[in-house]
Amino acid sequence: MPERVICHDCKHVLYEGSELKPPDEIIQSYSGKCPKCGRKLSLLPLGVEVKPVSKR
Ligand SMILES: [Zn+2]
Repeated sequence: MPERVICHDCKHVLYEGSELKPPDEIIQSYSGKCPKCGRKLSLLPLGVEVKPVSKR
């Protein structure tokens, strides 16, 4: 199952894919902001929700 990175505010899916990407890279690809709600994305504590699903 894929990794999924979700905006914690509006639940917009920022990234979904089978490739595990570092969340900071994903956030940077959006210039640090959610494209939907405009919320500033931060890695910690709860800027985005990251769900690594595979075992490694
Ligand atoms: Zn959002």
